[in-house]
Amino acid sequence: MKALSVLALVLPLFAQQTRDFDNVEIRVLPVQGNVYMLLGAGGNSTLQVGNDGVLVVDTQYAELAPKIMTEIRKLSPKPIIWMVNTHVHPDHTGGNEALSKLVGLGPGQAPRIIAHENVLNRMTQSGSNQPEIPVAMWPNDEYATSQKDIFFNGEAVMIYHMPAAHTDGDSIVFFRKSDAISTGDIFTPGRWPVIDLSRGGSVQGTLDALNYILKLTVPARYQDGGTLVVPGHGRLCDESDLVEYRDMLTIVRDRVQDLINRKMTLEQVKAARPARDYETEYSSDFQTLDQFVETVYRSLTEKKK
Ligand SMILES: [Zn+2]
Repeated sequence: MKALSVLALVLPLFAQQTRDFDNVEIRVLPVQGNVYMLLGAGGNSTLQVGNDGVLVVDTQYAELAPKIMTEIRKLSPKPIIWMVNTHVHPDHTGGNEALSKLVGLGPGQAPRIIAHENVLNRMTQSGSNQPEIPVAMWPNDEYATSQKDIFFNGEAVMIYHMPAAHTDGDSIVFFRKSDAISTGDIFTPGRWPVIDLSRGGSVQGTLDALNYILKLTVPARYQDGGTLVVPGHGRLCDESDLVEYRDMLTIVRDRVQDLINRKMTLEQVKAARPARDYETEYSSDFQTLDQFVETVYRSLTEKKK
């Protein structure tokens, strides 16, 4: 009887999850130049295609790999040579292994998976609350310096480490000729920023990263278009979207810091509504406003210690 009730509880959940992935539609949006944005479930993927092959930034979930490959095949018959993981979270790395098996390389050959070494370090740590991640999911081309660059499909692809931002292993990918940047979850327009303090993220690092990305972006006439930005989640953006998001985070950071300086407790800071003028603009898709304010508070107070 007990087993039955547990099954009754678990089965609908499982069915729900599989059905969810079955119903996910993958949409491909041309960005500009050689670069495309791929929307599905989980984080956005970015593709760069050309004569040398395919480069994929972020791999979403394993269950989606066949659908993602179908879309890639509509753009290019060539194998995936490179993958880049912007950070460790499973909605950005979950398809690493599954997609590697479908890439169209010869037997025993696998694509190179680039990530900052902190992504690998976190994946190889298996703790009590973290399930073990199979070796085939791990980055196999990690870098420990501030940047890594490759020349692929006739363009310089610059990969920059953004220290202590959304996590401690964030990379942004700048396609220099196509003039497009893939940011990972440092930038999630219209959603309260998620800063993963438990994986080395910080509010100041996120702001530093946003300001760095803004140095790379150049708007076209009337502040529209120009360098295009593929965010970790959400729609295709340009510099003005980034400016708005950076300004929001800066203002909330400054207000929370001011309240901390006045010796307010977390509860008092929340009650002061430091993000009040943004409350209708940003959604709680990933976390509530309360969680966001708490993260900013904790990031600023823990830093001071
Ligand atoms: Zn993330």
